[in-house]
Amino acid sequence: MTRILPKNRLDDCIAAWRSAGFSVLAPVRRSDLSRFEEVERSEDMALDLVLTERTIKDHFFPQTEPLIKYSIKKHDIDTQEMVPPERKRVFFGVRPCDASGLAIDDPLFGWDYRDEYWFKRRDNAVIVTIACTTSDDFCMCSSVNLSPDSTKGSDVMLRPLQNGSGWQVEALSDRGNALLGPISSILKEGSDATASTASVPVRFDVDKVMAWLADPASFESHFWKEISVRCIGCGSCTFLCPTCHCFDIQDEGDTYTGIRRKNWDSCSFPMFTMHTSGHNPRNTQSTRWRQRIMHKFNYYRGKFGVNSCSGCGRCTRQCPVDMGITETLQAITNLTK
Ligand code: SF4
Ligand code: SF4
Repeated sequence: MTRILPKNRLDDCIAAWRSAGFSVLAPVRRSDLSRFEEVERSEDMALDLVLTERTIKDHFFPQTEPLIKYSIKKHDIDTQEMVPPERKRVFFGVRPCDASGLAIDDPLFGWDYRDEYWFKRRDNAVIVTIACTTSDDFCMCSSVNLSPDSTKGSDVMLRPLQNGSGWQVEALSDRGNALLGPISSILKEGSDATASTASVPVRFDVDKVMAWLADPASFESHFWKEISVRCIGCGSCTFLCPTCHCFDIQDEGDTYTGIRRKNWDSCSFPMFTMHTSGHNPRNTQSTRWRQRIMHKFNYYRGKFGVNSCSGCGRCTRQCPVDMGITETLQAITNLTK
């Protein structure tokens, strides 16, 4: 016997979590854009989406956020930290690739400096993932050693029932267990069969990709120019990626007072590596594309033991010139045949 969350009790579930002090965020469709937003009713949730266009990363590492207020006096500087307030949040209906994305980024934000802005939000969030039963031509989780029902980064895993009446529920962490407390009277025992998970084909050989990237001869290969010639450097692939984490720090204010902000940045932009002297060590789009691939499948693994990609496919799905990462990784796989 396993625990079942009946679909027709989802509103009661939301109400119970809200009474326990949680905000509930779920996939929401807004005109042309889908993303995670706070919801009060189940009818506002878009749980049928293969994947939201924006990732849940936006809620942990916002596109722009104030870090400190500063005020420069005659002999002194006052600073005031602007750490986000405590806010307990449930993210309901997260896809396994997005949940994995958070887990992939955790070591980065806790590395040489612990980023409290990230961890305060992480520590107060419970990730309720729904295993995928559908996929599209861009999904590639199975190519990066994950799967449509991967549990990485999740606190609770929901598996859709074959008859569509609800989900099988599995707590994966203490936080997940605690979240099920307020809805214990809503959950029922059952042995209903679960639906098959989506079938996501392996689209490239990640081991071959990693081996080729680790070869010093690959760095100067003409491959990079050929494969990236279409890239217009728009940065969409980085901004929509659940694992991309580059940012820039800017001060906004006048000579005496202001706010220091953390803003997303992208390795696709020429300004990303521009030196004050005017020299740019990555002065072509191909060197910038090489950096993106090397970072995700070589450097990040070297530092944290994991690739910086959860296989969501957004970078390919949303690329305005129909490029993205899959084509590059397939081409590298073919190079090494
Ligand atoms: S690969 Fe596509 S989405 Fe990424 S920067 Fe280039 S054009 Fe933009
Ligand atoms: S690199 Fe592309 S496929 Fe991988 S996690 Fe980022 S957006 Fe998704």
